[in-house]
Amino acid sequence: MRRAAEAVAYLVTEKDLRASQTAWLFMELESAYAWVEDGAPEQPASVEDEDEIMQRKKFQLALEMISTRFAVANSLAYRIINDAMPPDPELCEEMECPEGCDGKHDFSDIDCGPDAILESLVEFGIDVEEGEYRTLSHPVEDGEAP
Ligand SMILES: [Zn+2]
Repeated sequence: MRRAAEAVAYLVTEKDLRASQTAWLFMELESAYAWVEDGAPEQPASVEDEDEIMQRKKFQLALEMISTRFAVANSLAYRIINDAMPPDPELCEEMECPEGCDGKHDFSDIDCGPDAILESLVEFGIDVEEGEYRTLSHPVEDGEAP
């Protein structure tokens, strides 16, 4: 199970998967994880500190799942953002594109700065610094840019 999680993290990070492939890997992994969590231990331990070993295994698996979930979410987010990004030929020079670039660029390391999330949340009617959620003054349009 841990190896499966590792493999999914590797695939979504290193390979150029389609968003739907990534989503399926994620679903299948989450399903398998749910089965492991509910089901029997992966292998019967005949050792004394059986409980402790089980606990440690569970903990390691939980950590593995956290990093894999992050890798999946990250990969999907970039895929969706890149797909939605209009072509921008003005960036070609800066990005040192090969001749004949159509202006479509794939980003993989967007740095929004520390405040972008706060500003986006305000757009959704949430002011974190006020300590409580304001009511939306206007409905947020689907697809509205932050
Ligand atoms: Zn370009």
